[in-house]
Amino acid sequence: MSRILLLGGTGEARQLAQRLASHHELTYSLAGRGRIPELPCPVRLGGFGGAAGLAAFLDEGGFELLIDATHPYAARISTNAQSAAQQAGIPLWAYRRPPWQPISGDDWRMVHDWSEVGMAIAGFRRPFFTMGLEPLQHVDTIPPGQRWLVRCLARRPSAPALIVLAAVGPFTLEQELALMRAYRIDVLVSKNSGGSAIVAKLSAARRLGIPVVMLERPPLPPADYTFSAIEPLIAQLISPAWMPCSFRSITITSRHST
Ligand code: NAP
Repeated sequence: MSRILLLGGTGEARQLAQRLASHHELTYSLAGRGRIPELPCPVRLGGFGGAAGLAAFLDEGGFELLIDATHPYAARISTNAQSAAQQAGIPLWAYRRPPWQPISGDDWRMVHDWSEVGMAIAGFRRPFFTMGLEPLQHVDTIPPGQRWLVRCLARRPSAPALIVLAAVGPFTLEQELALMRAYRIDVLVSKNSGGSAIVAKLSAARRLGIPVVMLERPPLPPADYTFSAIEPLIAQLISPAWMPCSFRSITITSRHST
């Protein structure tokens, strides 16, 4: 049994916690802004106070391994995780969800930040935003003739040029098609979150011939081990050959993807 801190906030992180809790002394960490899952291990809420705070938490708690299974757009905590693991002298493992890839029939327009989103949707009348809360910070820039549909976790009042849908996936293809048709959406704006829970919006956009303005992922720091699926990560940690001291020396010096 090893003492492990798991940085979560994703469906895969919850699965890791469920599968690893009986094998290790696991603590699941959340920023604390969303729902708190029921898990068979302690759940701690709230930030650590930057990389130094996280390093101190790892040290004081006697953690032997840090696992970063946060969302691919949560770049600050991933950057802090790398620095904190180094400061605490323990290995960092990362689960990085593979991004979606465009397929034949897709019309993806890649953008890097909000200003590029604004330019990319300029010629459209009814954009559908599925990129979290950020569009709500820019509602005063909605140009005449444009009406935004924003789907996010927060409940906010709608306005003549703004409809806010508070909803949590997963969503089916039928639901996405019905929604896009009902609001006569002509462009979809999305993060490249990856995974299966909310991918149906891309299939719906393809089916309806709607372009997708896709926000590129932020760069994330390297980890000692990077996994693109959770099964190999679980297999490593529940293997009978698992030895905390050997994994320390192996993972600190080697970097590869599984
Ligand atoms: P972020 O910008 O990378 O992090 C902001 C700050 O929140 C961090 O510096 C840290 O505070 C705290 N924090 C973030 N994740 C934490 C965790 N798992 N445990 C403890 N503290 C955490 O992250 P974000 O984009 O705001 O996302 C917040 C959380 O929501 C993440 O855990 C992420 O997995 C989840 N999430 C994010 C998205 C997204 O699109 N960004 C989507 C779905 C879920 P301190 O510096 O004080 O330690």
